[in-house]
Amino acid sequence: MHTRWSDGSGTAAEMADGAKQRSYEYIAITDHSKTLKIAGGIDEGSLKKQRAEIAKLNLSLSRSGANLIVLRSVEMNLNPRGQGDMLPASLTALDLVLGSFHSALRVVEDQTQRYLAALRNPHIQILGHPRGRIYNFRIGLKADWHRVFAEAAKLDKALEIDCYPDRQDLNVSLLKIARKHGTRISLGTDAHHPWQLEFIDLGLAGAMRARIPSDRIVNFMTVEALRKWVAGVRERTRRR
Ligand SMILES: [Zn+2]
Repeated sequence: MHTRWSDGSGTAAEMADGAKQRSYEYIAITDHSKTLKIAGGIDEGSLKKQRAEIAKLNLSLSRSGANLIVLRSVEMNLNPRGQGDMLPASLTALDLVLGSFHSALRVVEDQTQRYLAALRNPHIQILGHPRGRIYNFRIGLKADWHRVFAEAAKLDKALEIDCYPDRQDLNVSLLKIARKHGTRISLGTDAHHPWQLEFIDLGLAGAMRARIPSDRIVNFMTVEALRKWVAGVRERTRRR
């Protein structure tokens, strides 16, 4: 589960409350990183402050007997060469790192190389809203998706279904390709308010229609398994 909050009105505590009501075991807070200033992008300093705020929140959650853990994350902006905009040290301090493209999203040429470069970025584990498509607004990027999903599977990284109603990116036809390659899939609501956590149903429906096996869905892992997966991916990319 990932969610964004600093650019909306939902605070981490409100998001955690929404997640608790849905009986989630964990929720990840994934604000945009600093070069996306218009979307409330967060720099290394604010990310550090947020980490402290989340640590406090986790402490009060466990004291209250709640079975919910708030994970520290970020949605790092990737340039078209697949490079991020945050210092590595601030990323390794997080539980989980997403990377997403937010520029040059209307080019019509094949973008396979951009995706391969992003997946090979050692600092990310999940590629967010992969195509950048938005219903009735932007059709999204083109790529050789078999190569992209195969590379992700090889690196054991995940691609996201952004469950936001006008995104639903990945869509069902791309998810079917992902299934063929055994690629991990992450469901992210892109929620900016607690009520938007219900968007998870749209992503789940897409995954079910494409018959993605449950063991390939990141959100179905226990928090221990999730941490182990992230550590494994980090270790593997360090060795490359
Ligand atoms: Zn984004």
